[in-house]
Amino acid sequence: MSPSFDMDGDARGQPRVLIVGAGTAGLTVAHLLLRQRPHLALTILEPSPDHWYQPGFTLVGAGLIPLEQTRRDQADLIPTGCRWLRAAAVGFDPEHNCVHTSDGDVIAYEILVLTPGLQCFWERIQGLPQALGQQGVCSNYGGRFAAYTWETIQHFSGGTAIFTVPETPIKCGGAPQKVMYLADDHFKAKSGVGVNSRVIFCTAGTSLFAIPAYARSLHRVIQRRGIEVRLRHNLREVRAAEQVAIFEVTASDGSTSTEAIPFAMLHVVPPMGAPAVVASSPLAGDDPGGWVEVDPFSTQHRRYANVFAAGDGSSLPTSRTAGAARGAAFVLAANLLAYLAGQPLNSRYDGYTVCPLITGYGSVLLAEFDYSLQPVSTFLVDPTRERWSFWLLKTKLLPWIYWNRVLKGAPHEGRYLQPLAPLVQALGLAYRPAADLEQWQAQAPGGCS
Ligand SMILES: Cc1cc2nc3c(=O)[nH]c(=O)nc-3n(C[C@H](O)[C@H](O)[C@H](O)COP(=O)(O)OP(=O)(O)OC[C@H]3O[C@@H](n4cnc5c(N)ncnc54)[C@H](O)[C@@H]3O)c2cc1C
Repeated sequence: MSPSFDMDGDARGQPRVLIVGAGTAGLTVAHLLLRQRPHLALTILEPSPDHWYQPGFTLVGAGLIPLEQTRRDQADLIPTGCRWLRAAAVGFDPEHNCVHTSDGDVIAYEILVLTPGLQCFWERIQGLPQALGQQGVCSNYGGRFAAYTWETIQHFSGGTAIFTVPETPIKCGGAPQKVMYLADDHFKAKSGVGVNSRVIFCTAGTSLFAIPAYARSLHRVIQRRGIEVRLRHNLREVRAAEQVAIFEVTASDGSTSTEAIPFAMLHVVPPMGAPAVVASSPLAGDDPGGWVEVDPFSTQHRRYANVFAAGDGSSLPTSRTAGAARGAAFVLAANLLAYLAGQPLNSRYDGYTVCPLITGYGSVLLAEFDYSLQPVSTFLVDPTRERWSFWLLKTKLLPWIYWNRVLKGAPHEGRYLQPLAPLVQALGLAYRPAADLEQWQAQAPGGCS
């Protein structure tokens, strides 16, 4: 099919690059590319007029900021020199280097950058779409529901509060726990209903967190708070009128049973997956999750050399966060430009990701790690410890950094701290893996490893 949309615009003769999705990864890549090649014929395909700072939804759900503070007009964020097509990609034809849009256009490209994020499948939990926003059923995973999380926490007058995690990969693996610790803090320290309340963490998974060093710290938080942990509990149905949550429970021998737990508050994290338009396209290829199938180090597509991807919608095997999207975007931009210049793709992504795990009002554990699944510390101090300074970072500094540095392609702030590394070492503040970590893993109660 011949293309119906001419991307060349004012920049005839320049390579035509199409970015699908102007979220964290897409905007970062756009800024990085135009900074180095100002005359690139760059087009962004993005249907939404709004850009959401999703890490801020946790703060909305805790009553710390209003939802409006997490939103900006997309038009103000798309870099000058980049053409914005306000439509969605509805089909990919990488054999013919073109994308079909919701407006009926067919866009031809020389290079395609895929940054469409992931999709929440609310409807996969029976009764959930109708239940959300009433009877104590809330979720920080949809901006419009986050305000109801705070409403629910404030009006909670005792009973059982359940916090769930689905069986699928999710964005920000720590967010389901952050809201729980904040709610528990509120019940115990602020509203005083703590004595009449029971907090249960129901995860379809088998651990509190994938990185043992952080799982151990979180385990201490759970114990300190007296929170009940139910592993292999997968939320299947919400009966809002009766305020009952139905879980499928998998035993260690693989057999399953059903458990009904009554609740006064239910914070749900929905199942998530690759956007359907990606999963059903040749770009997903053999990837079992339907994600855009890219090389984990170069971000280049495994079969289509002129296709790159980063962020939540890619197959990059790291935890899906804005921090990871940012790290991969730098590698993607460098390798894309090398590809255009006919040079080898030498930039390598190490899987860096970061999740500020809020463990209560005033304390955060900054979980940074990479493909090695070991803690890394760009802020130099031991990241497995809860700190008030990280709380300031999460609540005050990171929102500013996001709007003013991340989306504009500015380098990671950790680089400015590196000269202080020897001093931090000398003061004994640097991270050293605990000698007994493996032993703890082997004995961790409830499989919290
Ligand atoms: C409650 C919550 C808490 C979080 N906390 C943190 C945190 O503390 N730290 C952290 O680093 N990360 C956190 N995250 C995760 C972080 O927000 C995401 O990982 C990050 O935004 C992913 O960036 P992305 O560019 O891949 O996708 P997104 O930022 O989601 O952007 C995807 C873009 O693609 C567009 N799009 C979708 N489909 C199409 C299509 N078919 N055609 C064209 N465009 C399309 C969308 O409109 C959107 O603009 C959190 C997320 C949530 C929900």
